Amino acid sequence: MTEATKHFIGGDWRAGAGPTFTVLNPSTGAPIAEMAIGTPEEVDEAVRAARAALDGGWADSTGSERRKLLLRLAALVAEEAADLGRITAEDVGMPQVFAFGEALFSAEYLEYFAGWADKIQGDTIPVQAPRVLDYTLREPVGVVAAIVPWNAPTSLTLWKMAPALAAGNAIVVKPSEHAPLVPLRLMDLVARAGFPPGVVGCVTGTGPETGRALVEHPGVDKIAFTGGTETGREVASTAGRLLKRVSLELGGKSANIVFADADLDAAASQACVACFLGSGQQCIAGSRLLVEASIHDEFCERAVAAARGFITGDPMDPSVQLGPLISARQLDRVLAFVEEARPEATVALGGARLGGDLARGYFVPPTVVTGVRNDMPIAREEIFGPVLSVIPFRDEAEAIQIANDSPYGLAGGVWTNDLSRAHAVARALKAGTVWVNSWLAVNPSTPFGGYKSSGVGREGGREALGLYTEVKNVYVQMR
Ligand code: NAD
Repeated sequence: MTEATKHFIGGDWRAGAGPTFTVLNPSTGAPIAEMAIGTPEEVDEAVRAARAALDGGWADSTGSERRKLLLRLAALVAEEAADLGRITAEDVGMPQVFAFGEALFSAEYLEYFAGWADKIQGDTIPVQAPRVLDYTLREPVGVVAAIVPWNAPTSLTLWKMAPALAAGNAIVVKPSEHAPLVPLRLMDLVARAGFPPGVVGCVTGTGPETGRALVEHPGVDKIAFTGGTETGREVASTAGRLLKRVSLELGGKSANIVFADADLDAAASQACVACFLGSGQQCIAGSRLLVEASIHDEFCERAVAAARGFITGDPMDPSVQLGPLISARQLDRVLAFVEEARPEATVALGGARLGGDLARGYFVPPTVVTGVRNDMPIAREEIFGPVLSVIPFRDEAEAIQIANDSPYGLAGGVWTNDLSRAHAVARALKAGTVWVNSWLAVNPSTPFGGYKSSGVGREGGREALGLYTEVKNVYVQMR
């Protein structure tokens, strides 16, 4: 084992003063790094360095300066995509080919927000008074705390950094304790891109120690959080108590609705991709598959056949589509949901840990459970594993009712060739994203976020700039 990871504070790499946390490779259970657990003092230093950077000139930087820096970072991320993919595969278990794609996608995200950096502007507003000039300014919020989960570390870190930096904020990133290595690698690239010291910092650590200290720090103006709904609730209540700006990207239990008139081959294969990509460890997993009763049995056969075609295994193997779950704890939790459903539902595929060469890791193959009712725990809770619950419905009204009967509202899907129905159902779903005859299409230019317990605010697109700017109204009485 090498020395513990370092924090990136004020443009320098600093050894941590606190204890460490052992990061495991989920494919083997073997330790891959000792991560420094950031202390409240280290969090304080990073926040102070961010403030000093703002006061030292970053707050007055021009949009074109920020655009150039973000474009340089985008180029470096694209250049290092293979390395970021390798680290993600080792740290998170995401298949390397997908993780490589995730890095390239993240570079595009940076490019998109680089384009906004010199286009953030206010309005001139007519008011009901003579000889008045009224206008708005969009100013950076200040110091942003970015708290990120482990499941897609490159994109989820950069989804916060890109709009925050484009708008002229400074940012301190707190990676997940399960996947700190990618955000740390990104800090190397931040330094190489030439961002002034302190504009971007990174303090690694666990949630209760480091994350909480960052959220509570009086020098943090805005918290951008992605993670589980329960953690989000705690972060939001702290933000409420301290009156900090907060945006939350939380969990999901998204419904993918297949009508009898859909292209059933495409729907079956995409329903599997929607649920099984990332081994189901994605917030937007289409984990509830709602199928019209008249095609239910036939469609289940197609879905099971499609699911059988997915290869689960070593994430370094380019032919593999499903890697391991992140931890032994998560493995037990996922399988417990399947066991709990067994007396009432049918496990048509999967449902058990994989052994043989994969026995040391936390591997579960694609699992399809049919005959699920929407009130069963397997249909209500975010499982974060490759478990597809199939629920039949009679008609459009019932499909909408079942889809919306969830505490979550992150995404939804509609498979149909009836144009009117596609739009009507898209409108009726209480979800932040609806895909029609597709799934997983996320673009830098489109808003992304959740209704209900899936979050507050929208990352992506122009909407994201609202999260990272304050609006100031200026009223000028002319003589
Ligand atoms: P998590 O809530 O356990 O942890 C997320 C982050 O919060 C980690 O960095 C963790 O260290 C930190 N944290 C934990 N407790 C904290 C506290 N008290 N104060 C401050 N920070 C704290 O989530 P996870 O297991 O890392 O990620 C999986 C979850 O993330 C799933 O629920 C998934 O749906 C969600 N997620 C949502 C989106 C989205 O965009 N909506 C995207 C990806 C993941």
